[in-house]
Amino acid sequence: MKKPLCRSIAAASLAFSGPLHAEVPRPGLLVAISIDQYSADLFAAYRAQYTGGLKRLQQGVVFPSAYHAHAATETCPGHATLLTGVHPAHSGIIANNWYDAAAARADKNIYCAEDESVPGSSSKEYSASLIHLRVPTLGDRMKLANPGTRVFSVSGKDRAAMMMAGKSADQTWWWGGNGFVSYSGRKPTPVVSQVSDRLLAGIAVGLPAPVVPGNCIAAPLAIGGGKSVGNAPEALAPGDTKDIRFRPELDQATLDIAAGFVEAEKLGKGSAPDLLTVSLSVTDYVGHRFGPGGVEMCVQMMALDAALGHFLDRLDATGIRYAVMLSADHGGVDLPERDRQHGATEAARVSPGTSFAALNKALGAGADPLILGDSIAGDVYVAPRVKGAARIKLISRAQAWLNARPDVAATFTARDLRAVKIPTKPPESWSLAERAAASFYPGRSGDLIVLLKPRTSPIADPLKGYVTTHGSPWDYDRRVPLLFWWPGVTGFEQPASVMTVDVIPSLAGLIGLRVDPSQIDGHCLDLDASQGTTCP
Ligand SMILES: [Zn+2]
Repeated sequence: MKKPLCRSIAAASLAFSGPLHAEVPRPGLLVAISIDQYSADLFAAYRAQYTGGLKRLQQGVVFPSAYHAHAATETCPGHATLLTGVHPAHSGIIANNWYDAAAARADKNIYCAEDESVPGSSSKEYSASLIHLRVPTLGDRMKLANPGTRVFSVSGKDRAAMMMAGKSADQTWWWGGNGFVSYSGRKPTPVVSQVSDRLLAGIAVGLPAPVVPGNCIAAPLAIGGGKSVGNAPEALAPGDTKDIRFRPELDQATLDIAAGFVEAEKLGKGSAPDLLTVSLSVTDYVGHRFGPGGVEMCVQMMALDAALGHFLDRLDATGIRYAVMLSADHGGVDLPERDRQHGATEAARVSPGTSFAALNKALGAGADPLILGDSIAGDVYVAPRVKGAARIKLISRAQAWLNARPDVAATFTARDLRAVKIPTKPPESWSLAERAAASFYPGRSGDLIVLLKPRTSPIADPLKGYVTTHGSPWDYDRRVPLLFWWPGVTGFEQPASVMTVDVIPSLAGLIGLRVDPSQIDGHCLDLDASQGTTCP
């Protein structure tokens, strides 16, 4: 028997709107989880095999096709989108890195989560900061509405922890390579120290090869140069603080810190709703190194499912009312060599001739390149020394050269994208220009935006590093699962597409937080399975 509609919760302050017109108990703690590179395709491939936390969360409200509507499907923009409710065009976080000719320092490459004005900094040795994020996060909005709200964040990656947390978060922690760290000057809390020390002690003596569950089958695939993927994961060598990023133990430690915060800080028991944001990074690292289609990812999926199960059990044990949102910062795609074996005959790597070197040569550049950028797929910049009419002519010549390349699907100039309106129609129907416009921020985005054809990996040589990546405007990179769950939830599944910008208004609806619709790009998803609504 369900409780009556419109119950008001005593804990809600006047800063929050009135009763919740839904048969949903108002949570004291929102838990927002991102699994890095957890594509809708990965969710579909494994969802029937989960037995732990990911099985439990599927019993709630399931949107199997949530879209990061934008084109530049990278980690920093994805995490910023998840909890700001706006496209990168409005958050300012257009990519993991961009080029800023006006930067005061010698290194003009800017990391999305740094303050480049800090003396001695570079895009590699940077000072962590959210100065480039132009909008508030859910946590910022919650704290503004009620200063009693507490916001805690943890991740395997700095940019993920920071972008989900926002500028006013109480604590933001990430794996720093030798323990979990935070902004300059922050000392680890006992929870953080304890988990860091335990993980470091494990790394010091090495970790055994993960047990390969019976549903995970090794099927090695040689990709040349003695390198292969599809092998059962190996043991971690003693002292290997780099490869811990590919081990389930890093996600487990991230979740241990998250649960530790809830217990130690009594989150969910205060006078105002609290927010815990968690981004789990290992799935992304495994996807990049081995591709999402092999035994390595299967082992990761099963371990992550178990770790999330333990995490939820710890939350249950606190007795608090909590609600979970789980999604991802972007999707991903398998390496072309295995994709081709699995029916995707068009899968390919970008040809070596589609490169900055070849483009600059064709444009007659000498030792100093005329065209710069992080990757030939994405934001491409004209060297600042080229000005005026010569600059416009150079952009035009570069565009013509790129458009003639067999791997290029489309190119857009900054001027093109300024004129494109970001749509609100279903994201799968957006044109490439509309997707690129959602990633376009004037003055920060490239002079040219280059989009490769579908299933064309921008990694020309898989022997040098990662074998696959994301970041494209294609749906395998845009589409992620979006799950909501709370104890006692009446679940349903909605196969129609939604957007990740819908997360904020939907979570705000659960806690009765007013969010001005004119400030965000998403809209509230009604999470109540019955006639009631969780939306204002
Ligand atoms: Zn990512």
